[in-house]
Amino acid sequence: MLKIQSLAFSYDDGGFHLQIPEFIMKPGERVAVIGPSGSGKTTLLNLISGITIPERGTIVIDEEEVNRLEDQARRRFRLRNIGFVFQDFELLDYLSVLDNILHPYRIGGVLKLDRSVRERASRLASRLGVADKLQRYPGRLSQGERQRVAICRALLPKRKLVLADEATGNLDPENKIRILDLLFESAGEQDAALLAVTHDHELLTRFDRVVDFRLFRGENSG
Ligand code: ADP
Ligand code: MG
Repeated sequence: MLKIQSLAFSYDDGGFHLQIPEFIMKPGERVAVIGPSGSGKTTLLNLISGITIPERGTIVIDEEEVNRLEDQARRRFRLRNIGFVFQDFELLDYLSVLDNILHPYRIGGVLKLDRSVRERASRLASRLGVADKLQRYPGRLSQGERQRVAICRALLPKRKLVLADEATGNLDPENKIRILDLLFESAGEQDAALLAVTHDHELLTRFDRVVDFRLFRGENSG
């Protein structure tokens, strides 16, 4: 499903280098990523999703070598295949909650918005406890609500891979468990693999595997 080999990446300012000799995920596998702040977890998710491009190495997702695609093709590949819950949510302030959730269907011309999608959106919003917020703008939501909207947007399209960057970080214990259940359930329904960065050590036993990021020799000299 996902195969990373001989990956190397540095930011332009040279302050941070990431090296991953090999990392493999099977279809449907649920992997947790842990590691100290600044160790490169978000950087890795950006590389996997093709938001950033590695200096060396390959990232293959479902037999497509993502790092070799042109910008536009990479964006379309991401829209079609990868759900991403960003650490800072990246909701669009000028769109209502509903329009944020449906946004992936309105860009790139890759995903088709039909009635069944709208119905699923409203079910998902209910499950996530934001159904009564659909007409609001993100600026008028709490952190936890924004996070749940971001999760809703990432889970609505059916995809092969879901990346979640501290997706339970801003939630109370009860919501953490609910959201994790939902992440697992959505990933399971779609037979998607789930790669989740988390600091919630009490949740780790629920994953198939835990990867400690320090093993990737992320090296911070800056
Ligand atoms: P984590 O998600 O594990 O907390 P990040 O991947 O966000 O870590 O960051 C890893 C390192 O790269 C940090 O030292 C951070 O300061 C640095 N970094 C992150 N984004 C950039 C950027 N756009 N330009 C330069 N350095 C960056
Ligand atoms: Mg991070």
